[in-house]
Amino acid sequence: MAKRDYYEVLGVSKTASEDEIKKAYRKIAIKYHPDRNPDDKSAEEKFKEAAEAYSVLSDAQKRQQYDQFGFDGLNGMGGFGGFGGGFSMDDIFSMFGDVFGGRGGFGGFGGFGGGRQRAQYRGSDLRLKVRLSLQEVATGVTKKFKLKKDVTCPECNGSGAEKGSGSETCPTCHGQGYTVRTVRSILGMMQTQSECPTCHGEGTVIKNKCSHCRGTGITKGEEVVEISIPAGVSDGMVVNVPGKGNAGRHNGINGNIQVFIEEEENDTFIRDGQNLLYNLLLDFPTAALGGEVEIPTLGEKKKRIKIESGTQPGKTIRLEDEGLPAVQGYGRGRGDIIVNISVYVPQTLTRQEKETLEQLRQSENFQGDASAKRSIFDRFKNYFS
Ligand SMILES: [Zn+2]
Ligand SMILES: [Zn+2]
Repeated sequence: MAKRDYYEVLGVSKTASEDEIKKAYRKIAIKYHPDRNPDDKSAEEKFKEAAEAYSVLSDAQKRQQYDQFGFDGLNGMGGFGGFGGGFSMDDIFSMFGDVFGGRGGFGGFGGFGGGRQRAQYRGSDLRLKVRLSLQEVATGVTKKFKLKKDVTCPECNGSGAEKGSGSETCPTCHGQGYTVRTVRSILGMMQTQSECPTCHGEGTVIKNKCSHCRGTGITKGEEVVEISIPAGVSDGMVVNVPGKGNAGRHNGINGNIQVFIEEEENDTFIRDGQNLLYNLLLDFPTAALGGEVEIPTLGEKKKRIKIESGTQPGKTIRLEDEGLPAVQGYGRGRGDIIVNISVYVPQTLTRQEKETLEQLRQSENFQGDASAKRSIFDRFKNYFS
């Protein structure tokens, strides 16, 4: 089935502000919320479709990718922790709970008449910087990091309760996780729900708090985390690694790790998107007589290329598919190495070399005729236009 445009799904314009997008999503999400539409498959689909659209349009980087490359642009992002396989209902509640009025970082869903889902805490995200060589960018790489982060408390296994003691139903909300208030409004008497102040939506409270984590279920710890960076990434990209961030309180949902990509400078190539630019400094006799030279590649092997006689500085030669791969999903298969030719002019000469060149200076061939000068001028002009 063809996917609908995300802007169309939310019914907003391409220039909609963050706030407009959030409001539009909230409206749709409330309308199609499963508690309001029990056993209605089409409502559930609409609810999920809106969540997917919102997940992209509310994220500046994903939105930009989408604007530029459409759905294709996102497959790449999906590959690192987007929603390759679609959203589950739990994902939606944990990711966008705040849209429905919960507090930040709290995946609760007050519930529209039924407390369908108990609130769960979500751990915060961690940020990392990774510096990659061009070779690592070309192949993709897995790196290990020792991270200081919130981990599940080993004493209470995340429950927050002292050993031997459990939790009990929250006396304030009787396990609902929210409290109901009746308020007067211009529309008459209305009931509003808000998160229970005693249990913060969990529905249970701990009798004796674990002394190790003070009842939170998380402690500071260290963890070695393996992170795979896909091939083809570039400086400034952010790779999202879901579920490897800080642990959520009371065995809640783990946060993510956001990996910020930095590229090391390379002293052989200049990167231009997926292409690599290489400057070949040719000796004058080879430029004039022709010959063969070796060009480095990103791999172990060098590539031999033929230089035709009479090769001019500024000429480019393309080594197809020797460049960088596309990040999963967008861009073309592989870029090229583009060889730019310069010609080396000797800076010191022996007496004999000078004499030889003095003789050649008189030769008409060394002056360049009108058509040769014309074609070099044209190339120069093209370079700047
Ligand atoms: Zn504990
Ligand atoms: Zn409560």
